[in-house]
Amino acid sequence: MGRREAHHKRSRPSLRSTPLNRQSTTLKDLVHHSGPRDEAEEARRVQLVEVTIDSLAEVGYVGTTLAEIAGRAGVSPGLVAHYFDDKDGLLEAAFRTLARTLAARVRARLALARTPRGRVQAVIDTNLAPEEFDKRTGTAWLAFWGQVLHVRGLKRVQTAYQRRMLSNLRNDLRRMIPGEDARTLAAMIAAMIDGVWLRAALSEWQEADSESARALLTAFVEGRLQELAQVRTPAAASEPAPSARAGAGGTFRVLNPANGAVLAELSADGPAQIDAAVLRAQAAQKKWGALSGAERGRVLHRAARMLRERNEELAVLETRNTGKPIQETRAVDVLSGAECLEYYAGLAAGIAGEHLDLGPQAFGYTRREPLGVVAGIGAWNYPLQIACWKSAPALACGNAMIFKPAELTPLTAMKLQEVFAAAGLPDGVFQVVQGQAETGRLLTRHRDIRKISLTGEVGTGKAVMADAAATLKQVTLELGGKSPLIVFGDAKLENAVAGALLGNFYSAGEVCSNGTRVFVHKSVHAAFVERLRTRAAAMRVGDPMDPATQVGALISAEHMEKVLGFIARGRAQGARVLTGGARVTSGDLASGYFVAPTVFDGCHDDMDIVRQEIFGPVMSVLEFADEDEVIARANATEFGLAAGVFTNDLTRAHRVIAQLQAGTCWINHYNITPVELPFGGVKMSGLGRENGRAAIEHYTQLKSVYVAMGDIDAPY
Ligand code: NDP
Repeated sequence: MGRREAHHKRSRPSLRSTPLNRQSTTLKDLVHHSGPRDEAEEARRVQLVEVTIDSLAEVGYVGTTLAEIAGRAGVSPGLVAHYFDDKDGLLEAAFRTLARTLAARVRARLALARTPRGRVQAVIDTNLAPEEFDKRTGTAWLAFWGQVLHVRGLKRVQTAYQRRMLSNLRNDLRRMIPGEDARTLAAMIAAMIDGVWLRAALSEWQEADSESARALLTAFVEGRLQELAQVRTPAAASEPAPSARAGAGGTFRVLNPANGAVLAELSADGPAQIDAAVLRAQAAQKKWGALSGAERGRVLHRAARMLRERNEELAVLETRNTGKPIQETRAVDVLSGAECLEYYAGLAAGIAGEHLDLGPQAFGYTRREPLGVVAGIGAWNYPLQIACWKSAPALACGNAMIFKPAELTPLTAMKLQEVFAAAGLPDGVFQVVQGQAETGRLLTRHRDIRKISLTGEVGTGKAVMADAAATLKQVTLELGGKSPLIVFGDAKLENAVAGALLGNFYSAGEVCSNGTRVFVHKSVHAAFVERLRTRAAAMRVGDPMDPATQVGALISAEHMEKVLGFIARGRAQGARVLTGGARVTSGDLASGYFVAPTVFDGCHDDMDIVRQEIFGPVMSVLEFADEDEVIARANATEFGLAAGVFTNDLTRAHRVIAQLQAGTCWINHYNITPVELPFGGVKMSGLGRENGRAAIEHYTQLKSVYVAMGDIDAPY
């Protein structure tokens, strides 16, 4: 089956009254045509196709005649025949348009998916997306379906779409289960997509809606994959997993990126587990939210103390799982999480609405209430810290949180759950679920989860926001960056170099707010790069468990390849490597994913290493001549997470910062994130803020209450 596309946002009356020379940028390229035509002709064809879909939806296949279409479009039947020969030609063009649009949407979703299971889900999700359940489009599809057996052209379009969908599904399923099973399961998925859609169509879109259809099919696929994984042949089961992901999406392995050792094997949570977690959270939240802020604060305080007591154990676990140097995790990862819990423990008792005087006869007040059940989804670079940054304000405000850590770093969030339980947090108020993007999606689409706070890539942020829209969830998005760090000629040079090193190589550069575009004024450029080169070259790359190591391993082989690819492109595009520029494989490091701190000089604004987020130990140095120029160049990016300025000129510092498009800024320092200061991005770097009082706004909702103090004066 090939079906359905939606242009439901366009109102039909305005379409009909559209002049014939109107051009469409969305459909134009998709309408089938056999040779070059001018733009006005294309626009006419597009409009006639649109009108055909309208007609099919309103009067069905039999009622859709050339005369009917011509009447709706306000042209003569001869003109319609001129473009499409006959009714079948026109219907084929319309059907092809629907199928191509759907195929383009599938391709776009596939490009975002990172795992075979994710790609299978992308096919399901696109075919059963809410817009495919739009009545106008759906009715048109239904009309086509009825004719597929009788009209050769329609059959051709349907077969081509069906083949493409099956081959997409088969290819990805084959990477999870044996070939024969993959073929059968692909056919079952395709049949179920048709089935649930058809059932919805025939029951006039009342019986099944998009969300329940997707949930049904996702649960079915999940169940089949798990069954098939259990009966895999010994030969297939012993094939090495391509990465930390293993099994049929049902289980995945957790690795130490410094040496490839397997740390754990976990099961990914599916729909049943997520539903159960949400139910538990709902019940728990009622009681937790009813406690006073001071009572909630006491639990958070105890948890913070326990985190501090377990600093060493948790730092070691974090280092094993992330590859970050133990000297960092001991000093930052666990303790900054504890600090965050302490901060919100202190704020909890002070969360309040306001009183508003409305004159002698009335007053008003606002209540700041919890949202209910909220979800956190974490990235892999600061697993425990991210879990604390999300859970501390959520719990202080009286919510229950379900947290999904990144599949690559799932271990310390489980420890945090343990700590919360030991601190007296009622069961179900903070729950950790495990899995990949599919598990994340179950959270973002769950109708009973009221908010998602994500830390991740820009693409993931967009996907999460789109999914959250279906149930109008609130979102906080902490996304990627390509932040500028500007060094003026009057800056204290040694501090500026230190800031650039901290802002690029801490955690092997896997920090979202890193100042990876280092703009240096030409008057100090030579001195700056010389000092930078010396200090960067002296950094110690090594075993993360060695307290002397300053740069550990990158998170995965896949990520290391991505970083090395950027370094190669930097060279190819003409940037000069001052130091680093290669993988480090000396001694035992060969079995891990180590890359030397790399400084590129002679960079230009249009190089890939300057434009794109690398998320590794790669710094680009750029020269500038004056203030306006550097501000314009610093802002010439889609990102807006952070920015830094080094200067001793007080007024310049504030003048420049005020003009930089970034959510988080530093003057004469870099990457310091005290919990009191809100943290977050603008532009494509995110929405909302974490930390500070600002986060309270994002985890509560206001209720306004009007209180009358006198009698009611009614005119009737
Ligand atoms: P990803 O976006 O790949 O993943 C983030 C989380 O989202 C993971 O738990 C992931 O699951 C999950 N996920 C992926 N796809 C979906 C989906 N469609 N629906 C729901 N959940 C989904 O980011 P990384 O883990 O690779 O982290 C690196 C990125 O995070 C960088 O871009 C970095 O800049 C950004 N970041 C931003 C920070 C900020 O505060 N602004 C701080 C730290 C990092 P899984 O991985 O298990 O598949």
